Amino acid sequence: MKNERSRRHFLKTCAATALAGGALAQQSWQPPPRIENKLGVALVGLGYYSTDVLAPALQQTRNCALTGIVTGTAAKERIWSEKYGIPRRNIYNYDNYDRIVDNDEIDIIYVVLPNSMHAEYTIRAARAGKHVICEKPMALSVAECESMIRACRDNGRMLSIGYRMQFEPHTREAMRFGREKVFGEVRYVTASAGFQNGSPKTHWKLQKAYGGGALMDMGVYSIQGARYVIHEEPVSVTAQSFTVDPERFDEVDETVTLQLEFPSQAMANLMTSFRASANILYASAQKGWFSMNPFSGYRGIKLDTIRGPVALSDINQQATQMDEVAWCIVNNEPMRVPGEEGLRDLKIIEATREALRSGRKVAIA
Ligand code: NAD
Repeated sequence: MKNERSRRHFLKTCAATALAGGALAQQSWQPPPRIENKLGVALVGLGYYSTDVLAPALQQTRNCALTGIVTGTAAKERIWSEKYGIPRRNIYNYDNYDRIVDNDEIDIIYVVLPNSMHAEYTIRAARAGKHVICEKPMALSVAECESMIRACRDNGRMLSIGYRMQFEPHTREAMRFGREKVFGEVRYVTASAGFQNGSPKTHWKLQKAYGGGALMDMGVYSIQGARYVIHEEPVSVTAQSFTVDPERFDEVDETVTLQLEFPSQAMANLMTSFRASANILYASAQKGWFSMNPFSGYRGIKLDTIRGPVALSDINQQATQMDEVAWCIVNNEPMRVPGEEGLRDLKIIEATREALRSGRKVAIA
């Protein structure tokens, strides 16, 4: 009962702002409610995102603790163990990973590996009886996403995808604008997500087999943005690819533009790039507009509207994401970002690939 009350309070305050007398009134953001005992999280893959972002965020969480790591690099074992006090018994490598099944200090496995490894390590985690957070993009294909969802379901485990923006207050408010038609129906969205990726060709993000390319890496932010502010699923896609540096980008896309059509006849014109930096979303609605610039960064998301800016809390997105996931696990509540959400984006990505290949408009299943 107490949990139910706190869930309702939590969801209500998470709405963050409300329309009062035609003006945008602001309410304060609330973190996910505390759970009694923190859940243990093991990070799998100790590269940039784990090292620079998730491990520091886990020092800010109220419902999670960094209790384990999985790494193929022996030198990292000592560094991480000393820095975060991780005991020897909670350190695994890719060969003995499945033994995590015997470890009750690890409740959640967070898969932070190259995209081509997401499916395998999620499925093995579920089989080891662990809940899973898997980074974006969920996997390489629709089929892989479906097998990950099935593995978690069959083993009675919960699965969430690392779409941190959906936990961010300004983003959630923009989602509400679309869902509640605060400015009328959203008719057009443009969103661009890109950065100047100077990595050599040998980096996994520039290799097809690893699920590299701008569309998989940053394109999911543009696609997510269109979907969550229009609040519908697209029915078709057309797409164009632009390559300026064919030596580095001979296997994966450098810049992609795509156009999505939605059932309400809203449309989105999206861009993603490893050549041009971009981080902006604009939504045009029947009675006005709203925009986020930036819309996909770790901090400092800015929401502006025809009626003026909306300033909400600038939170630690990753800490909030993990805290809410832990709260949902303990209270057996549905995930805000379940596996099905990652699957929807892979359906769009698969259709986009087909549109790029054929030069035609492709229906999205
Ligand atoms: P990274 O290259 O810095 O780290 C990948 C890690 O995987 C490394 O520690 C590497 O040693 C390990 N690894 C294990 N087997 C490997 C293999 N066969 N080949 C290459 N590396 C191997 O990458 P990253 O930037 O940390 O990205 C990891 C995942 O996190 C990706 O799916 C990426 O999309 C996602 N990510 C998400 C966000 C976000 O904001 N949600 C931000 C950055 C990255």
